[in-house]
Amino acid sequence: MQPTGSGELHIGNYLGALKNWVSLSREGTYDALFCVVDAHAATTEYRAAEMPTRIFGTALSYMAAGLDPAQCTLFVQSDVPQHMELAWYLSTVTPMGDLHRMTQFKEKSDEHKQNVNAGLFTYPILMAADILLYRATVVPVGNDQVQHLELSREICRKFNARFGDTFPEPKPKLTPTPRIMGLDGKRKMSKSLGNAIDLFDPPKVVEKKLKGAFTDELKLQLGDPGRPEVCNIFTLHTALTPEGEVKQIDADCRSGALGCGNCKKRLTETMNAELAPIQARAAELRAEPQRVLGALEAGAERARSIATRTMADVREAMGMNVRAPKS
Ligand code: ADP
Repeated sequence: MQPTGSGELHIGNYLGALKNWVSLSREGTYDALFCVVDAHAATTEYRAAEMPTRIFGTALSYMAAGLDPAQCTLFVQSDVPQHMELAWYLSTVTPMGDLHRMTQFKEKSDEHKQNVNAGLFTYPILMAADILLYRATVVPVGNDQVQHLELSREICRKFNARFGDTFPEPKPKLTPTPRIMGLDGKRKMSKSLGNAIDLFDPPKVVEKKLKGAFTDELKLQLGDPGRPEVCNIFTLHTALTPEGEVKQIDADCRSGALGCGNCKKRLTETMNAELAPIQARAAELRAEPQRVLGALEAGAERARSIATRTMADVREAMGMNVRAPKS
C-alpha cells in the first residue's frame, strides 16, 4: 500500500486487502511479505519532510490491523533498492501500448494534471517488480489493482519467454468485498477523494460519517422496499456483520421493515467493534515506535536477502555478467 495522506489507511484498504493479508499470514500456508510502497507514492507531489511519518503510519496500520512480524515479513520498498533495478529490466519487455491502457494512469493523470510524470506512467512496472522480485505466486489486492496485476502477469510471461523461466506467474487474491465505495456512494473509497472512513476514526466520527453516507439513489421513505444489492451500506454489512444477521438485514431491507437509519446504526456498532482492537493496538504501538521500526529493519534485511538472490538470477538470465561468460 502507498503511504498517502497521513499514512493511515481507510476501511476500503482494510476490507479490500489488509484483512486478507492478516488471515493469509495467520493461516501460515504462504511465506508472506508485505511492503509499504514509498517509491510508488513519489509519483504524486509530496513534501519530503512528511514522508517518514507517512511511511511509519502505514507500517503501524499494518501491525495494528493484525500483521505480526513473527508471522510475516514487513518492510519499506525503498529499503530494498533491487525493486528499482528489476523495474528497469522489466521495462524493457513491457509494451508501451499496455501501459497506455491502464485505467489508473488515466484517472491519476486527470487528477494530477500539473504533474503527469513518467513514473506515473511506468507505475505498473514497478508494481510488477515488487511482486516478481519475491517470486510471489499470490497477490492479495483490491479490485482496482487487478488490471495492474494482469499486466504483471503479462510482463512475467514476456520475460520468461525471452530470457528463460525465471518467475512464477502471480495470481490475484480478492476478498469477498474487493471494491468498497466511498461515503458518496459514487466513487471507490479513497483518501484523496475525501470520501473515506479511516481505520483510526473514533466511534463518534464513524457514527457521523455513516449517518451522512449515501445509500440508494432512490430516496427511500419509511416502509419502501430497499435494494441491498445496490447499497454500499449493505456491502459493508456483508464484510463486518455476522452472517446470520446479514441475511435478516437483507430480508428486512427488502420488506421495508428496516429503514436506512436503523441499518446504519447497526453498521456503526459492528464497524466500531471491528475497529476498537485495531485502534487499541495502534495506541500501544505509538507508545513503542521501536516495535514498528525494528520490525521494518529486520523485514528489510530479509527482503534484501531474497532480492539479492533473485537479481543474481535475473542478471544471469539477461547475460549481464561479463565475468561469467556462458559460451
Ligand atoms: P488508495 O487507492 O487509497 O490510494 P492504494 O492504491 O495504496 O490505496 O491501495 C492499497 C490496497 O488497497 C490495494 O490492494 C487496493 O486494491 C486496495 N484498495 C484501495 N481502495 C480500495 C477500495 N475502495 N475498496 C477495496 N480495496 C481498496
